[in-house]
Amino acid sequence: MPKSAIQSMLPSVAAFLKKRHGQYIAGAWQVDKKAQLIEVKSPATGDVVARIAHACEDDVEAAVIAARQGFEGNEWSKMVPNDRAALLFKLADTLEDKKYELSQIEAIDCGFSMQMMNSIGIKLAADQLRYYAGWVTKLNGETITNSRPREDDHDFLTYTKKEPVGVVAQIIPWNFPLGMAIQKLAPALAAGCTVVMKPAEETPLSALYLASLIDKVGFPKGVFNLLNGYGRKTGAALASHRGVDKVAFTGSTDVGKEIIKASSDSLKKVTLELGGKSPVVIMPDANLSSAIPAAARAIFFLSGQNCMAGSRLFVHADVHDEVVSGLKEIASSLTIGSEFNGDGFAGQFDVGPLISERQVVRVLSYIDIGMAEGATLLTGGKRASIGVGYFVEPTIFTDCTPEMRIVREEIFGPVLTVQKFNTVDVEEVAALANDSIYGLSASVWTCDLAKAHRIANRIKSGQVGINVHAAIDTAVPFGGYKQSGWGREFGREGLEPYLETKAITAYL
Ligand code: NAP
Ligand code: MG
Repeated sequence: MPKSAIQSMLPSVAAFLKKRHGQYIAGAWQVDKKAQLIEVKSPATGDVVARIAHACEDDVEAAVIAARQGFEGNEWSKMVPNDRAALLFKLADTLEDKKYELSQIEAIDCGFSMQMMNSIGIKLAADQLRYYAGWVTKLNGETITNSRPREDDHDFLTYTKKEPVGVVAQIIPWNFPLGMAIQKLAPALAAGCTVVMKPAEETPLSALYLASLIDKVGFPKGVFNLLNGYGRKTGAALASHRGVDKVAFTGSTDVGKEIIKASSDSLKKVTLELGGKSPVVIMPDANLSSAIPAAARAIFFLSGQNCMAGSRLFVHADVHDEVVSGLKEIASSLTIGSEFNGDGFAGQFDVGPLISERQVVRVLSYIDIGMAEGATLLTGGKRASIGVGYFVEPTIFTDCTPEMRIVREEIFGPVLTVQKFNTVDVEEVAALANDSIYGLSASVWTCDLAKAHRIANRIKSGQVGINVHAAIDTAVPFGGYKQSGWGREFGREGLEPYLETKAITAYL
């Protein structure tokens, strides 16, 4: 990295990047000097910005043992709920105190803008920690009316208790690293579980920084452990480890299926947040002045590297041409770039880089497939010619048809497919939206709210927006129908996978 880049960073961030990063196990950093090193690159420049040690088998063992001891020991499980909540509140405050450091780290590691980190990244993470901190004191069971035959005048008292599942392995992807880490961590810690986390090797930096904050906040030893390493080694070792009670995974549908297989031997609890190919449906009476920019944001936010990306756009024939020309205008006017440009933090851009060269190759190959399949390339379609980073132009294909691979498969890049439709029948419109193996998110755009609700009721998806796309909130359950996953995150439902229910019956 050039000196100017290092000088532009907060001194604490520059020092953090220079460190030899190891594993965080049982409340201490383990740095194996002989460990294989993974190079962490900035997607804006391809420059190596840090080097982290790959966890070895012994590290995996040590982390699982630490999490087990953390779970079975008295410090965490016997901590009174108010105190456990206080630690989560304190972590939220600490995260906000370090928002500039974390924002710079994500800008360097992922190409994010500081403004997005401030308004969404840090805010959502702190909100989640506080939301789940609030639940810690409300994990109540219930008393159950019991109809067992009575003996003499004896009665039964039955009540349920909520208990933590135990040691949880959390495996997360690269597209929203800090957000994903907190999204997994907050409900697990609120429930009283202990965690071994494995971030994606492309974006390990914010989780490493988070571990240092967790260390400062003063969680008991072994409550949070962090391992870095490739998924097929470290991730797979965690998914199959007999000392792990539950795996919480976010990533691709293919790896999700691997996780199920690996975890089946010991019948671990598994929750999966997987891929998507989310539909955005614009009806003929939609308010186009809001629908068109929203459809553009739905696909181009995070350069399409967003599991909820509205990558299948359905537009009614009556408004098709107007929508398509509006989208073309927006897509071709978006500024491509990144906050961290290799020299420093430059600011202003609309569409950032893809995470790696591998993703660029993958996305460009889908663009070739779209052309070969006969879709019309409306705009974009090339690697963006700015610097040496991993940038692809915002791309829109029209004249798409349901059987095309670009319509069926998750591309995870800034590539929108547009299909024209003629019907206003709710069943037929819902059938278009439902023609996918995925079911994570969807949105319907119309001024006829009754019709909107009827379509929303028929869409097979964990979330449906009416005149809004991807309306994420910490209190609102989020997760997939069909091959988009198992279970829910966010909200009260996001806690359930980390809790067991115990029923106790007393003969009185
Ligand atoms: P990925 O390749 O499935 O990787 C996700 C994580 O799993 C990474 O930490 C990866 O490690 C690890 N991994 C890979 N192979 C593994 C194995 N055999 N056993 C255990 N762990 C393994 O996904 P990605 O390419 O990083 O992320 C993009 C995908 O995530 C997209 O499909 C997207 O839709 C999905 N996603 C879903 C949601 C949601 O909430 N539904 C949110 C965001 C992203 P390494 O990468 O370090 O090798
Ligand atoms: Mg990966």
